[in-house]
Amino acid sequence: MNADKSTQQRHRVVVIGSGFGGLFACKHLRKADVDITLISKTSTHLFQPLLYQVATGILSVGEIAPATRIVLRKQRNVRVIMGDVNDIDVKNGTVTSRLLNQDTVTPFDSIIVAAGAQQSYFGNDHFATYAPGMKTIDDALELRARILGSFEEAELAKDQETRDRFMTFCVVGAGPTGVELAGQIAELADRTLDGTFRNIDTRDTRVILIEGADAVLKPMGPKLGGKAHKRLEKMGVEIQLNAIVTNVDARGVTVKEPDGSERRIESACKVWSAGVQASELGKILAAGSEGTETDRAGRVVVEPDLTIKGYPNVFVVGDLMSVPGVPGQAQGAIQGGTYAAKAIKAEVEHGQKPADRKPFKYFDKGSMATVSRFNAVCQIGKLEFSGFIAWLAWLALHLYYLVGFRSRFVTVLQWFTSFLGRHRGQMAATEQWVFARLALEALDDPDEALELHKQIGGEYPTGNGKSVANVKPGTETEPKAV
Ligand SMILES: Cc1cc2nc3c(=O)[nH]c(=O)nc-3n(C[C@H](O)[C@H](O)[C@H](O)COP(=O)(O)OP(=O)(O)OC[C@H]3O[C@@H](n4cnc5c(N)ncnc54)[C@H](O)[C@@H]3O)c2cc1C
Repeated sequence: MNADKSTQQRHRVVVIGSGFGGLFACKHLRKADVDITLISKTSTHLFQPLLYQVATGILSVGEIAPATRIVLRKQRNVRVIMGDVNDIDVKNGTVTSRLLNQDTVTPFDSIIVAAGAQQSYFGNDHFATYAPGMKTIDDALELRARILGSFEEAELAKDQETRDRFMTFCVVGAGPTGVELAGQIAELADRTLDGTFRNIDTRDTRVILIEGADAVLKPMGPKLGGKAHKRLEKMGVEIQLNAIVTNVDARGVTVKEPDGSERRIESACKVWSAGVQASELGKILAAGSEGTETDRAGRVVVEPDLTIKGYPNVFVVGDLMSVPGVPGQAQGAIQGGTYAAKAIKAEVEHGQKPADRKPFKYFDKGSMATVSRFNAVCQIGKLEFSGFIAWLAWLALHLYYLVGFRSRFVTVLQWFTSFLGRHRGQMAATEQWVFARLALEALDDPDEALELHKQIGGEYPTGNGKSVANVKPGTETEPKAV
């Protein structure tokens, strides 16, 4: 175990996570008389709202995920370390993180936990093998490879049934991410890939958006949800409402209707955007401090000042916090991170007592979602609008929050060519992007690792002990059903 040897005199702040909550917390402590250690299991600040554009070939990873240490290079009071936090000891004020086989213990006087959330499969984690979510860079690249790989398979298909299966895309969940993805897959097929294959017509692609509720974009209300619904249908997206996905496998999905009957959709490429589960650190905080609870999604129920019961120096912000009326959106994380930073600064520099803190107040700046190029829906307070103006608002806002001048500049160029023409600059995809996750999962199990070793030479484990090359097409783990 590697103890942090720095002998710090100043107030020590640990920030966990380099997402919106963590990064904004650090930035608001820029001039504070504190030493900050930012610990994150990823090396970048990921702009999740544009992940779907990486998945569909518009943007590169670099544009939406600058390296955190470079973003914070000039902020001398921050040290960035990489590591997966696996323990927070609130009583003794230490955090344990792990990078490869090395544990690091970092002491703190105050801590801001901004570890976010991940995809939830509602207890059916095995669905992830066939329907990746959209939370990380790996997810987006894997999805891009699955989407483009499906068209490649369709081009080579020997019969219509197989061709149809590879040209049917299912997006599960009609929230903003599902809507954006469905719209972009449809545009990819209709515009960018049109005329690029010889055996298939990509305009015959089926994109199916499956939603358990009775509306698209339900939290945005019937007017905007209805607009998005109509626009998607106009683009050829099939929308299936009140439909619950009960199973996902290599060849498709099983959907349950309101009357209890079940039906199949044959589809090689599936995407999951149906739910979120807070980081495991929520449970660790709850277990380590008396009276702290988590909600159904694993988020930590915090006090009015975003701290946990009995520990006014332990802040939980962003997607990991449960505060009534605050949505799991970037603004919630930015405002939470900023609030926590200001509270720490006030305590360190002005001796403010925790009891004197004003409660966190969320300012709702609205929400928006793009449906296609030149078309978005937007809600700001009671104001609701859609179409081109909403799309321009979406464009401006996303550019504003993208970190770094270079990212903004390159993104504008990419958008210019993608939206005005039909070209997409990021259409590369490799087989490894599809299979690497499964190979890594297998490494958790020594037997599987041995098996993997034996298989070196282009064969990948499926995660169930069989090598891809040993699995026959048509079986549950059909290898090429990417
Ligand atoms: C596909 C997608 C689209 C979205 N679109 C929008 C949108 O259009 N508008 C909007 O407002 N919001 C959108 N959101 C939601 C928004 O991105 C989140 O609400 C926001 O990112 C939450 O910020 P956060 O800091 O709490 O967590 P995150 O941004 O998720 O950051 C969490 C950080 O914690 C790190 N971490 C996690 N666990 C550990 C650990 N154990 N140890 C160390 N580090 C850890 C991660 O590596 C990451 O750096 C979208 C989200 C997704 C996934």
